[in-house]
Amino acid sequence: MTVRIGIIGTGAIGRDHARRIEQVLAGGKIVALTDVNRESAEAVRADIAPDAEIFQTGEELIASPLVDAVLVTSWGASHEQYVLAAIAAGKPCFCEKPLATTADGARRIVDAEVAHGRRLVQVGFMRRYDAGYIALKEAVTSRTGAPIMVHAAHRNPTVPQHYLTPMAIHDTLIHEIDVFRWLLDDDYVSARVIFPRRAARSHGKLRDPQVVLLETAKGVVIDVEIFVNCHYGYDIQCEVVGEDGIARLPEPMAVQMRLNASLQNPILTDWKDRFIASYDVELQDFLKAAAQGTATGPTCWDGYVAAITSDACVTAQEREGEAVAITLPSRPALYS
Ligand code: NAD
Repeated sequence: MTVRIGIIGTGAIGRDHARRIEQVLAGGKIVALTDVNRESAEAVRADIAPDAEIFQTGEELIASPLVDAVLVTSWGASHEQYVLAAIAAGKPCFCEKPLATTADGARRIVDAEVAHGRRLVQVGFMRRYDAGYIALKEAVTSRTGAPIMVHAAHRNPTVPQHYLTPMAIHDTLIHEIDVFRWLLDDDYVSARVIFPRRAARSHGKLRDPQVVLLETAKGVVIDVEIFVNCHYGYDIQCEVVGEDGIARLPEPMAVQMRLNASLQNPILTDWKDRFIASYDVELQDFLKAAAQGTATGPTCWDGYVAAITSDACVTAQEREGEAVAITLPSRPALYS
């Protein structure tokens, strides 16, 4: 079966997902597009999906009998309304992170999906589909013994002037927040943030770098360095210290060179390249489940927990050095 897909939001990631579905993956076809900037949708139709119909609004696209399943790739603030509309229409929906911009908004989506009684939503936490993280999880689960600590880093060469301190949580750490829960099969109980001195390249409204300390229910302590003006490259590091050994996230494949009297390993500079293959795998997973009228992979509950944890981390930024408790409501059976 070919799943007929409608895309809401045809900016950077919406366009890239359209390309994937039309040119890389099996089982999907773009039949509908919409964007508040109509020209953007028209450009994607012209370049990638010539048969797609352009809709005036996301709600009209979701309601259309042309559309079997929906991709929500608009700005974060609009995700909640579209995901709720997709659930109301009973259509599978892939929603880029964040599921909603508030924990209350994410909760409304969880409640709507639970009331529907069947999974329809996959959240775009693509690191779970990365071959390196999958290999790391295998090592952590079966080789290195029960985890005790995680040392991690999320480094970006530079960020624009509009990137402010809380965005280090909502836009950057959000991926670590999700992937460590999945990696450790655990939940967070507290967050703390420590700021070293501000790096010289950081602008006035951004405290960069910062260290986030997360503690889990099983007693694992995770330290994540977020350094978004590190200058040298886009670099994701993760090392899990277990009872019997240490497991490290593999580096991206790169040609090692002996050159100019030095041993060199190139480091990526653009975040878009780091997990490029995992976007293909996550969307193929979505198409496969959508053909059955359901969804697999990261759930609304994962999106909700990520929102609760993000809020706690932002509070922890504001209360520098203080531990902020993270309390989760009980998990509905749909997500057990
Ligand atoms: P973008 O600004 O390039 O594109 C967003 C598009 O949505 C724009 O064309 C805009 O006109 C459109 N839009 C905004 N509000 C809309 C609405 N209410 N209805 C319809 N269209 C609307 O942004 P982007 O980089 O493509 O990011 C989009 C979303 O994807 C964000 O939530 C972002 O966090 C997420 N994202 C996730 C990843 C990832 O690694 N998983 C990577 C990039 C972006």
